[in-house]
Amino acid sequence: MNVNMSRRTLIAGLAAGSVTACVTNPDTGESQFLLVSDGQLSQMAASAWSDAKKQTPVSRDPALNNQLQRIGGRIVTAANRQNDSWEYAVFDSDQKNAFVMPGGKVGFYRGIMEFSDNDDQIAAIMGHETGHVTGRHAAARFSTQIAAGAGLTAANIALSRTDTRYKNKIAAILGAGVSFGVILPFSRRHELQADRLGVDYMHRAGYDVHQSVKLWEKMAAESTGSGQPEFLSTHPSPETRVRELDSYIRAKGYG
Ligand SMILES: [Zn+2]
Repeated sequence: MNVNMSRRTLIAGLAAGSVTACVTNPDTGESQFLLVSDGQLSQMAASAWSDAKKQTPVSRDPALNNQLQRIGGRIVTAANRQNDSWEYAVFDSDQKNAFVMPGGKVGFYRGIMEFSDNDDQIAAIMGHETGHVTGRHAAARFSTQIAAGAGLTAANIALSRTDTRYKNKIAAILGAGVSFGVILPFSRRHELQADRLGVDYMHRAGYDVHQSVKLWEKMAAESTGSGQPEFLSTHPSPETRVRELDSYIRAKGYG
């Protein structure tokens, strides 16, 4: 990829006011370097989301769908995002994974819902995914990729609707990579921040925060058997997150 080209598009974008730079995130208090607006991301995510639903069949099982809607509603309310538009889908696949995309598109695979013992464990995953949204992790990752000239320019983004090379890459950056077989993890720092935000939301929503620790312990036990669950391949080691979550829950005095 020609770096000058991407820099030129970037500068053009900055001049046109279509991109933003350093902003403070009200949910985390952090200053973030962002080159895309929420509106741009939501637009790209909307098309990646409809592709994801074509890629993997969506389950019509009313019990699973109701469970996901119910838990999602409680968690996003706890995150004070109940006025945003959210869409939940259960993908009919054995994969033990879940993802979220900008614009509030939440995908859970049937496999991870069946693997969870109770609503609290699903709420732990929902809280984590919601933490990626409030932490604006997709926007941060997208901006890093553009700034690094990693083959992504405004021109590529415009092409993304038709060109599968960019379409899949953009979907992966936005969070739906697992649907397209492109595993692109968030940074370890983003993952652990999503975990902490997730337990905050669980606690506020009245879920048992200790179930988050139970869930990752269960995942860890599973990973010593027949290969590691998909969720773990894109996330920090379960030992690390169990330790970090446990000390965060204690420090906060939850439960
Ligand atoms: Zn994550």
